[in-house]
Amino acid sequence: MLSDTLHEVLQRLENAARDAARPVPRLLAVSKTQAATAVAELAAAGQRAFGENYVQEALAKQKSLNDDALEWHLIGHLQSNKAAIAATAFDWVQTLDREKLVPLLATARATSRPPLNVLIQVNIDDETSKHGCRPDDVPALAGAIVAQPRLALRGLMAIPAPDPDLQRRRIAFRRMRSLFDDLAGQHPQVDTLSMGMSDDHAIAIEEGATMVRVGTGLFGRRERRESEMGNQAKPQTS
Ligand SMILES: *Cc1c(COP(=O)(O)O)cnc(C)c1O
Repeated sequence: MLSDTLHEVLQRLENAARDAARPVPRLLAVSKTQAATAVAELAAAGQRAFGENYVQEALAKQKSLNDDALEWHLIGHLQSNKAAIAATAFDWVQTLDREKLVPLLATARATSRPPLNVLIQVNIDDETSKHGCRPDDVPALAGAIVAQPRLALRGLMAIPAPDPDLQRRRIAFRRMRSLFDDLAGQHPQVDTLSMGMSDDHAIAIEEGATMVRVGTGLFGRRERRESEMGNQAKPQTS
């Protein structure tokens, strides 16, 4: 039962936070490649926040679920030509990593809705990755975001390199927490540090994550591989 797994994961987050003397982080359920029925099952068990990597996949699930109480987070790379639709389809965009996206998201966010919550994605340790801004670029990007009333700067997000050496991931998480503390010092509304996934969320919590993103740990193994997902989705999605 997915509801049992959800309660086990929430219990693990609580235990990790207690052991580390940190606040309990929010759980983002990463539902990419999972069926809408699985999302509905978790929603019925009380889970509200869901993360998707592709705009079109998220839209399809939202349509079949038709549940206004759910909160949708974009956690996949955002292409400029998908910014306008992302600003409509999501409550949070966690992958804002370049200034060009700022006006595109802001102008597309309807004034009838609350401002779009955004996290700046930081490329904390992976020089080969094309995604995420450099740590040095965070203050300027944050300044551009807070100048837009249709956007709400909430914090930072990172996907450290999947290093089998968990101590190296810990160092990346620690650097993120320090960047996050600097940013929160500049912008008091900043309250979210999104880091840690199924296999490393305990370390991320120790280092001060306020939101962890768990996919396989909740839903089990993804049916389709992400590479297949990406190829399949390429013509119409981000
Ligand atoms: C898929 C994904 C996750 C979840 O990964 P799991 O290892 O399945 O928990 C978290 N964050 C991002 C950005 C992802 O793409």
